[in-house]
Amino acid sequence: MTAVTGALPTPKGVLAIGAHPDDVEFGCAATLARWTGDGAEAHLLILTDGAKGSWEPSEDVAALIETRKREAQEAAGVLGAVAVHFLDAVDGELESGLTLREAVCRVIRETGPDVVLGHDPWKRYRLHPDHRHAGFLTVDGVVAARDPHFFPKQGGHHRPSTLLLFEADEADHWEPAEESHLEVKVRALLSHRSQWRSTMGIESESDRAAFEQRVHNAAREAGEPAGLPYAEAFRCVDVD
Ligand SMILES: [Zn+2]
Repeated sequence: MTAVTGALPTPKGVLAIGAHPDDVEFGCAATLARWTGDGAEAHLLILTDGAKGSWEPSEDVAALIETRKREAQEAAGVLGAVAVHFLDAVDGELESGLTLREAVCRVIRETGPDVVLGHDPWKRYRLHPDHRHAGFLTVDGVVAARDPHFFPKQGGHHRPSTLLLFEADEADHWEPAEESHLEVKVRALLSHRSQWRSTMGIESESDRAAFEQRVHNAAREAGEPAGLPYAEAFRCVDVD
């Protein structure tokens, strides 16, 4: 385990990138809530259309995509984010190739964040390919955005100061959370109503309370190595 780095100062701008409409909320919602509460301008970028987010074989997929977009907007509002950007790649078929790298690079350049957050592409034994590819698109998008000779037709480059990877294989950075930030995290997650059953295991009021408890427990466990009551854990990657 490498040295524990301290919490970052509140960034002016932040961009959080997730494969699916609820990933950012699971990965870093408490940190986003704290930062937006302290005046940060937060943008969310969702790479896929969320079309696989149902266990129902007869699901109307086009309607599900629209529902998930609405839920993502609602969650972003709960988090105090200024905008959600959608790349609409097909859920389950995300690839970390040049086309999407260019699109991610464009969003980074246009939103100009100090801090970029995304999936850790190096997390071992990860099953879902979208999370792996989303991680590589985040890391590679940051590299492209910072240097002017990548995708020069976009015009203008932007170098974030920090890249934080959530679901980190080996965390080395912790952002503290308070009870109020966890409450926002739970509310943002619950905005994804279509995912209550499949992702959050919620089919009744008691399931909902248990889910809330799991979010708190995860934050408590995440904070333990850093001696924090509640936290979200990250791998901090130097962008220089
Ligand atoms: Zn996901």
